[in-house]
Amino acid sequence: MERTTTSDGDTAIVWFRNDLRVSDNAALMAASRHGAVLPVFIRETNSPARPLGAARTWWLHHSLERLAEKLESLGAPLLLLSGDPARIIPDLVQATGAAAVYWNRRYDPRHQAADAALKAQLQADGLSAESFAGQLLHEPMRLKTGGGTYYKVYSPFWRAMEPDIEKRPPLPAPDALPPLPAKLDIASEALAGWGLLPVAPDWSGGMNEAWTPGEDGARARLVDFLENRMQGYAERRDIPGVDATSGLSPHLASGEITPAQIIEAMRVADTDASSSDLSKFRKEVGWREFSWHLLANDPGLPDRNHNSRFDAFPWIRNETALQAWQKGLTGYPIVDAGMRELWRTGWMHNRVRMVVASFLTKHLMIDWREGEAWFWDTLVDADPASNAASWQWVAGSGADAAPYFRIFNPVLQGEKFDPDGAYVRANLPELGKMPSRFIHRPWEAPDSVLLAAGVRLGKNYPEPIIDHQAARQRALAAYQQIKDAA
Ligand code: FAD
Repeated sequence: MERTTTSDGDTAIVWFRNDLRVSDNAALMAASRHGAVLPVFIRETNSPARPLGAARTWWLHHSLERLAEKLESLGAPLLLLSGDPARIIPDLVQATGAAAVYWNRRYDPRHQAADAALKAQLQADGLSAESFAGQLLHEPMRLKTGGGTYYKVYSPFWRAMEPDIEKRPPLPAPDALPPLPAKLDIASEALAGWGLLPVAPDWSGGMNEAWTPGEDGARARLVDFLENRMQGYAERRDIPGVDATSGLSPHLASGEITPAQIIEAMRVADTDASSSDLSKFRKEVGWREFSWHLLANDPGLPDRNHNSRFDAFPWIRNETALQAWQKGLTGYPIVDAGMRELWRTGWMHNRVRMVVASFLTKHLMIDWREGEAWFWDTLVDADPASNAASWQWVAGSGADAAPYFRIFNPVLQGEKFDPDGAYVRANLPELGKMPSRFIHRPWEAPDSVLLAAGVRLGKNYPEPIIDHQAARQRALAAYQQIKDAA
């Protein structure tokens, strides 16, 4: 391959993808030891993977801004380009005379073939092209059961991988990144021109209030969690009305922090959390690993029932009910509070995610793929593995799934996990004055109570769109059908 060299041949290109950080970034560290560094982020116009949803697109804008600032301060400004990486990267090699191209691995099977092909092409051209680990604590294709296959049950998976999770201490950020010796002919595109932020309407106000995208925001959240909020995690993590979980999921999804950094920070933290809090938290991080293990080994996970018995499930198409669910207008306060939290902040508490997912797939009998798609678009932590695996887990069609016949009662779930209604009140202002006794079952409140609370059922808050007992019987009967047919 002919090159018009503008460097001394020691330039390394670092292709950023979903690893928008400078610390614990093995690809960047390897490049910094090479010589001059050219960091690039490509807005892939022909990606084989699903495009990011709206909430993650908003996040990406801010995260790239922060990453660009960090790289600039280390000495190597971030180049932004749009197009096909399989063309852009070789063009950059040619323009810089780079001897190496590095990136951190992504495990979405829809990316893997394209990444492997590009790596092979670059190596064939005589370059040092290498990929590095970081997004996960384990390599999903390497970890195998004794029988040589992949894990489909969480507990043995976790037993197999937990002993190794501290074996790769996180890397620091490079001290400095030597810039290219000569000006590059290829100009960076302007981030503002990519149109990643919503306009007309700008729905991002609640997300701006809730989040600080970027590596520093991730680190600050981790430190605050370990120092101030982790105590009692094992029990409090299920209570949506208290701020008792880390909120690290969107930072992990965009690679602003790595699981290795989290595990290491926990190991050295000066925290009042008990050993059961720490172990519970590690196990939750383990669920993310398990989800990726499943997706890497079952590429159809986001679209296809893992358990093919569900292919015959009689899902109901009901646009009105789907919209009521999406807008948080089902008449069940815990469901509606969750869906409104999601819309406002781009995030929803895990317990409530399970309740709303159960309500959609069991009470409304709407296909889990509809719910997965809505979450994909609206979650700032939307993640191809955790989202698909969790939806299938709740729907009953997944690996190691909750049994289909376990149907959450949204009233009892609300009363158990949000007993004083703090979560509902925070997300449904129209129920703000409802007494706790009726907050999860407003339709049972006497007229005088409704009047005093300013609640007009069917006017400013809906009646339940479906009766719990009737919905439960219908779902169980449908499940029996596919069981009998199997
Ligand atoms: P913490 O309790 O602080 O946990 C720490 C980290 O562990 C999280 O950041 C996350 O990376 C991981 N984790 C925790 N619980 C789970 C879990 N059940 N499955 C996988 N990883 C977990 N998580 C996503 O990151 N992206 C998604 O798209 C996503 N979709 C979901 C859809 C449904 C229907 C359900 C039931 C769960 C989904 N989850 C998803 C998992 C979980 O709800 C979130 O990871 C969690 O609520 C994030 O909040 P946190 O960071 O405060 O969690």
